[in-house]
Amino acid sequence: MTIIDRTRLRELSEAETTRFAETHPRSLELSQRARRSLVAGVPMHWMMKWAGGFPLFVTEARGAHFTDADGLDHIDLCLGDTGAMTGHSPAASVAAIIDQAQRGITTMLPSAAAIDVGDELTRRFGLPLWQFALTATDANRIVVRIARELTGRPKILVFNGCYHGTVDETMVRLGDDGVVRPRPGSVGPPVDPALTTRVCEFNDLAAMEAELAHGDVALVLAEPAMTNVGIVLPHDGYHTGLRELTRQHGTLLCLDETHTLCCGIGGATRAWGLEPDIVTMGKPIGSGVPSAAYGIAKSIADEIVARTDVDTADVGGIGGTLAGNVLSVAAMAATLTEVLTERAFEITIPLADRFATGVEAVIADGGLDWHVARLGCRAEYRFQPHHPHNGGEAIASDDPELDGFMHLFALNRGILLTPFHNMALMSPDTTVTDIDRHTEVFAEAVAMLLG
Ligand code: PMP
Repeated sequence: MTIIDRTRLRELSEAETTRFAETHPRSLELSQRARRSLVAGVPMHWMMKWAGGFPLFVTEARGAHFTDADGLDHIDLCLGDTGAMTGHSPAASVAAIIDQAQRGITTMLPSAAAIDVGDELTRRFGLPLWQFALTATDANRIVVRIARELTGRPKILVFNGCYHGTVDETMVRLGDDGVVRPRPGSVGPPVDPALTTRVCEFNDLAAMEAELAHGDVALVLAEPAMTNVGIVLPHDGYHTGLRELTRQHGTLLCLDETHTLCCGIGGATRAWGLEPDIVTMGKPIGSGVPSAAYGIAKSIADEIVARTDVDTADVGGIGGTLAGNVLSVAAMAATLTEVLTERAFEITIPLADRFATGVEAVIADGGLDWHVARLGCRAEYRFQPHHPHNGGEAIASDDPELDGFMHLFALNRGILLTPFHNMALMSPDTTVTDIDRHTEVFAEAVAMLLG
């Protein structure tokens, strides 16, 4: 198998960094000016992490493309890390958003469109009852509280390498010694996460059983396939086992579908026939307008209502004045009925296949021991020969140096990949030409690496 020459990789990366600064003078200038009033020159600190040393400033995003401050067009395969899986500013959502914005943005009262959203989510995911939030993080936070309240148990269980937003209980890693620790970089953990969280590896039912056997786990919070350490797909039968174990141990099961919405109109839950007690989702369900939802089984809803004292319903730790605001509900209604439709996935899933096939052919030609994974309308390549079975394996195979080069090489040629992985997401506006252009650029990058 072909080995990448690291000295060459470093030289190539330096050349790409220089090219990036030279060809994006306006974004560079804006990022320097931004330091006047924005911490590290960015609106949110993780925006410092883009390849190239400074972020592109965007002037316009439409469909599957955006234009940066230097007037350069980009194929957007990041799509706001799923927030814009709908394509940027889909016409139906924009019309609904404008219409609603002119008739009120937030009222603390429901609009009739909320019923349409609830009905549609039930049709898609099978869970009968819904509540709204503004971010997937918040939906997950709420669900963790509900599960603790209903089961009377203190802990949750997540998988090593997971990401469910900035939910304190989930900011964890499993040490090689089996000890639960704060995730590297976790800022100011409120308590030792071992007190709140059990962690095991994905695809390991024996490890799951051992953790659940302690009898103190209120909730398993899981992505149906992991997407935040790159893609880790479930083994055959894994979900059946997971469901059986959680039922057996009286633990609730929540599937976080925020990213796995890429599997189809009802996420992996519908695509794979899963039976969670709860699902959560956010990001694209309002076409990027802050919106999130969680769906629950009827028995859970009945218990919540029975336990919630009307006088304290607004201070019970499940809140959000802006949650369920009429603007975000209008955006969700339009997105679900007109944008993220069955038809949309008939377009986007084959595009992800085309991405995977194109990249695989280049990898094979180059004799590289890399592989490609696909999950619905999402695909990624990894610098290891096999699909990782779990988060620990995925983390161990990370190659930030090579990642950085591939991202910057693509960016310098007008393609934005999803940061932190070599991942691409398709929108209904993405075209075959966009995907073939990526394959071409990927082939060019590989040829450069191999000299
Ligand atoms: N759940 C999953 C699976 C995610 O990938 C993310 C963010 N990447 C979140 C939740 C949190 O989303 P947000 O930051 O929009 O709250």
